[in-house]
Amino acid sequence: MKFLIANWKMNGDLHFAEQYVQEMNDISSEHEIIICPPFPLLLKFKDCVHSLGAQNCCFASDGAFTGEVSPNLLKELGCTYVIIGHSERRTIFHETDADIEQKFKILSELKLNPIVCIGEKENERDNWKGILSKQISWMQNANLENAIIAYEPLWSIGTNIIPTTNEISEVAKFLKSQIDAPVTYGGSVNASNACTIFNIPNIDGLLIGRASWTSKSFAEIIREVEE
Ligand code: PEP
Repeated sequence: MKFLIANWKMNGDLHFAEQYVQEMNDISSEHEIIICPPFPLLLKFKDCVHSLGAQNCCFASDGAFTGEVSPNLLKELGCTYVIIGHSERRTIFHETDADIEQKFKILSELKLNPIVCIGEKENERDNWKGILSKQISWMQNANLENAIIAYEPLWSIGTNIIPTTNEISEVAKFLKSQIDAPVTYGGSVNASNACTIFNIPNIDGLLIGRASWTSKSFAEIIREVEE
């Protein structure tokens, strides 16, 4: 079983979510389908047959953290996965590896599965090993039992520029030599390239942004990798 993770980012509304759930409920897969809508839409997924994930969470389970979202509440709403450390959180909201480690800890305590995003920037491509090693260094002492590591090179997110199969394979092999967790790939995945990337050795699934923003294109990817 591999993972197919849909990251809606800040897209969708109440009506869209209802339709998406209906359409996705007609699709079955041998793989784990995880849909990550914005927080306010999570309630709309209570009858969804697939797994539910959030795109972020607070590092604490409750308290005086105005504007933050409790991982406890996410659990109550049916989430079993939470994405942490997405590159947009790191770059736009200045999240650090230390912040991500803190979030990881609370998720592990609450038995929520963390999807930890890592990846190098365009100008760091020559030093990807150094960058990724730094981003995963805290994981050496963490219990990764329920974690997924999402490798997402920043220069590939939203750009339609994809690393070669060899490049992805090399990164996945390196990560697997360092940490004991499934490794997914994310960055400009669509129905035409999904199958090739999905089948790269050491790749345990895909994290999909834009191509998951309609149930039609996400379903197409699911069908492609199923064949
Ligand atoms: C993402 O933002 O996690 C992502 C993979 O986006 P896209 O598929 O649109 O490149």
